[in-house]
Amino acid sequence: MSAAAVPGASTRSIDFSAFRGPTLARELIERIHTLAGDRRINLMEVCGTHTVSIGRYGFRSIMPAGLRLLSGPGCPVCVTANSDIDHAIALARLENATITTFGDMMRVPGSSTTLARMKAEGRDIRIVYSPLDALDIAEGLPDREVIFMGVGFETTTPAIAACILEAAERDLKNFSVYCAHKTTGPALRAIANDPETAIDGFILPGHVSTITGVPPYRFLVDEFHTPGVVTGFEPVDILEGVAELVRMIVTDEPGIENAYRRGVSRDGNAVARALVDQVFEPCDTTWRGLGEIPGSGLRVRDEFAHFNAVRRFDVEVEPTVEPRGCRCGDVLRGRITPNDCPLFGKTCTPEHAVGPCMVSSEGSCAAYHRFHER
Ligand code: SF4
Repeated sequence: MSAAAVPGASTRSIDFSAFRGPTLARELIERIHTLAGDRRINLMEVCGTHTVSIGRYGFRSIMPAGLRLLSGPGCPVCVTANSDIDHAIALARLENATITTFGDMMRVPGSSTTLARMKAEGRDIRIVYSPLDALDIAEGLPDREVIFMGVGFETTTPAIAACILEAAERDLKNFSVYCAHKTTGPALRAIANDPETAIDGFILPGHVSTITGVPPYRFLVDEFHTPGVVTGFEPVDILEGVAELVRMIVTDEPGIENAYRRGVSRDGNAVARALVDQVFEPCDTTWRGLGEIPGSGLRVRDEFAHFNAVRRFDVEVEPTVEPRGCRCGDVLRGRITPNDCPLFGKTCTPEHAVGPCMVSSEGSCAAYHRFHER
């Protein structure tokens, strides 16, 4: 979702050249090498957009030998559980239903099929670029039930909340949302608690932080003695974030820093958070790879139950079957890198994806494949 779609967000344009300068980038790379020396350091980039930027600029290959940049659970398509995909597929089987969703969700394999295959079989499933498009479709198809499958983190949910309020305003009776939204804090806690991953520092998500602000990450320091840096997506942004993390790790002075001040204010976007609170309430939810995490999901409040597809439609969902041999769960926890998966680049490719991490444009496996990270 564009920043412009977030209530209260700034739309001013920015000259990015300062964040792409080779001189400063080289200085930061040298600084990272000097600070890290031959220490073993595991950093995790939580956000899928960071994974793509890191791959695009080849940063994994120029880090010190002991410093690993591991990808985390920050691609919303990838962390959507098979059971949620299966539920959307069951909704698509309803005689009178039109399913709307973002493009990447179409090819994510459920237990036995995908939304794309259902569409090829004649079901009415449409890609939209904004949930508001789904509202317009509902208005134009008064005899059909238009269901929007919503996935995403704090960046996306304000727009979905606004959409539900707009549907109420327009008195739309045939629009509802299948809500698979998640919040990042509980997932970060699950990762920080994982002894198999042993993350020393987190590159924190720039987009999500525009909404949440910085203080909600403080628990990483207070509970886990682990630093985090909110970071932008340009080369200098990422290198600056890595350098600051390494500094905090080697000096044993963990903190939460904001290295993306041009995009993220300390307190985030209170207007957007209020909108989300008005429409949604926290619930337990299941993440691919991380299992059920208490309080990490959002469900539509009872007040707006008419727009909750789970409440509206009682469908039979097939038993969940995970894709055989797929290691997406371990990739999303940072336990392995994509090329540790035996299927990577062999039976699993972007053209014939076995798991969602190879489907999504921000998936770790797709990024490793695209940028030839081996
Ligand atoms: Fe899953 Fe394919 Fe990635 Fe392996 S390479 S973890 S099968 S998406």
